[in-house]
Amino acid sequence: MKAVAVFPGSRETKVVDTEEPRITEPDQVTLRVLDVGICGTDWEICTFEYGTPPPGDDHLVLGHEALAEVVTAGSAVERFEPGDLVVPTVRRPCPHPGCLACRSGHQDYCYTGDFSERGIKEAHGYMAESVVDHERDLVLVQPDLRDVAVLTEPLTIAEKALGQILWMMRHRPPWLDPRTPGEERGRGLSALVLGIGPVGLLGAMTMVSAGFTTYVYSRELPPHPRTDLVGAIGATYVSTRNETFAELAERIGNVDVIYEAVGHSHFALEALEVLGTNGIYVLTGVPGLQAFVEADPARLMRTMVLKNQVLLGTVNAGADDFAAALRNLDLFRRRWPEAVRTLIAGRHPLERAAGLVLGRPAGIKTVISFDSAGG
Ligand SMILES: [Zn+2]
Ligand SMILES: [Zn+2]
Repeated sequence: MKAVAVFPGSRETKVVDTEEPRITEPDQVTLRVLDVGICGTDWEICTFEYGTPPPGDDHLVLGHEALAEVVTAGSAVERFEPGDLVVPTVRRPCPHPGCLACRSGHQDYCYTGDFSERGIKEAHGYMAESVVDHERDLVLVQPDLRDVAVLTEPLTIAEKALGQILWMMRHRPPWLDPRTPGEERGRGLSALVLGIGPVGLLGAMTMVSAGFTTYVYSRELPPHPRTDLVGAIGATYVSTRNETFAELAERIGNVDVIYEAVGHSHFALEALEVLGTNGIYVLTGVPGLQAFVEADPARLMRTMVLKNQVLLGTVNAGADDFAAALRNLDLFRRRWPEAVRTLIAGRHPLERAAGLVLGRPAGIKTVISFDSAGG
């Protein structure tokens, strides 16, 4: 079968012919891959900044944002049958008996760092015609989400963040609003999303649908397809070239939530200065090596203490976040059909993967498609 693999030794990314994987345990399924999204992590892997092949292998099969169809199910598989659509989670647990996170199925919170990640760290990914997975690592997708389910994995970042924001809102008294039990708990509160890449845009959709008055702040000047999309979902776009952080904060009022999705450390630090009283700041970007800047930690510390602020980092996501992402994708596509359609920039054959990963992204989310019927 064909797969796209990166070879760190020879520093190349290419289509390879490899053996089709087979079920070796009764709780596994074989999957036919349909769609795989590409993102900045793939770029980092293909430029050899990040990523590790499985032990003993000279290459790593790329791809961690996948949608697939079950082809065969092992004898102990209970939840899936051939024909079902599934989205796989990315991280697999570390082997250490003392890691409470991994031992309870929450490997996105792994303590040891010895986890593996499909398509990223010590485990082959999904940019292959066929893959094998354990039942426990798969989430069922309803058939009518076929066209958009490849967005599930990038959306889980926002879902995991929102889950924690909502939990804190319930447990931090100033934010309790008895009039809005259950849903739209962000009503009356503001959220500032930094960045309009796929993670930022999906984060903005998540915040809007949770009821937050949502602003998106990034470099691009409108008109631009991504800034148009921000308007289409009912959020407000502001360009860094038109307003400073201070001006933006004055317009917003109390900045209740900041969702960072740019991975730029200076920008992230500047944003911290406009976080409001009782504000929650969520960092999702992983910056590479960047220029050193001077900061005033005493002032930052004073502000954070006196304003009851929370600074939260979040990485990866668990099975619950994947399920929440699929529920929200269904909602997004009903509420903003055109915007969700434009999120997927195009579907391309396997042979173009290396060029697309390394090239400048043309649209929002580029997808490698294995399904000729998928277009
Ligand atoms: Zn990704
Ligand atoms: Zn662990």
